[in-house]
Amino acid sequence: MKRRDILAAAGVGLAATALAGCNKQAETSCEPQQGGGGETFTWKMVTSWPKNFPGVGVGAERFAKLVNEMSGGRLTVKVYAAGELVPALEVFDAVSRGTAELGHGAPYYWKGKVPAAQFFCALPFGPNAAEMNAWLFKGGGMQLWEEVYKPFGVLPILCGSTGVQTAGWFNKEINSPADFQGLKMRTPGLGGEVLTKMGGTVVNLPAGEIFTALQTGAIDATEWIGPYNDLALGLHKAAKYYYTPGWQEPNVTFELDVNLKAWETLPADLQAIVRAAARDVNADMLDDYNARNMEALETLKSEGVEVRRLPDEVLARLKQVATEVVEASAAADPAAAKVYEAQSAYFKRLQAYAKVAEEDIYQIRG
Ligand code: CA
Repeated sequence: MKRRDILAAAGVGLAATALAGCNKQAETSCEPQQGGGGETFTWKMVTSWPKNFPGVGVGAERFAKLVNEMSGGRLTVKVYAAGELVPALEVFDAVSRGTAELGHGAPYYWKGKVPAAQFFCALPFGPNAAEMNAWLFKGGGMQLWEEVYKPFGVLPILCGSTGVQTAGWFNKEINSPADFQGLKMRTPGLGGEVLTKMGGTVVNLPAGEIFTALQTGAIDATEWIGPYNDLALGLHKAAKYYYTPGWQEPNVTFELDVNLKAWETLPADLQAIVRAAARDVNADMLDDYNARNMEALETLKSEGVEVRRLPDEVLARLKQVATEVVEASAAADPAAAKVYEAQSAYFKRLQAYAKVAEEDIYQIRG
């Protein structure tokens, strides 16, 4: 991390410290205080990512580094890669039962346990990063998310956005909707349910297992994130075609899971530091993805990768099926229904705004 980034982040931390101290001491003074009485905390953070993983894994590392710096060592976060303490897809459970105080993963990884979780993560043909962030931070989304996770003793904090993904890597051509029949593909969440309804078979794999599965033919196709991460996994060496656009995930959000009991032991200034660091990571990750995806796509093309757009007929059918799948998924679970009702009303309003803002500009600038 660049020095000025650390200083900028530290500035947020000092402000948070001053604010927490000020609140506590409101009746007497409003001078900046060093809160928390010097008690130190060492927390474990389990993640769904392999070690030193670009983008999302870097984000988890950045969070830990920021918290350590901003708290002056009062809260030390030790990051564990997938499989070191718990497997990639068991992060939520581990935080829920208190094996680790913190976790970093994608909400839809635990949809089997918390069906509403995937609605905070990615919606096929749904909101982009800016829209999802607007709903979560400014439109009541975070409060709903906290409500959904509370019975599991977990506090969710938004901690990462990917932006628009790609449709993925295929060893079979997709020329018509019928080409999804019998296709074995790694794609999680609601996108996976769409694939199933298109006649395909979903295989749920963590990052570390995707390349081998694709190379050996255990799966015919996979989507992962975008050029930056896909290049790092070497997926272009295991598949023939790279399809766009990422209809299944116009954005994916990542969550910081906090064990609620542990959270309640944390002084207010350290809680503010955790939230500020997560907010920093969320913004930084999106910038990182935009910059690195661009570079990685240039590299992939220079290495002969054929980038193909899914045919209009296929996208139209996917969109039709996605609408049915999302509505059925929401209807199957009371919490999901409540979340979906709130967010779809909000996204409709955002979409109307996008028509006179982003959409128009994208069309004109070409
Ligand atoms: Ca993905």
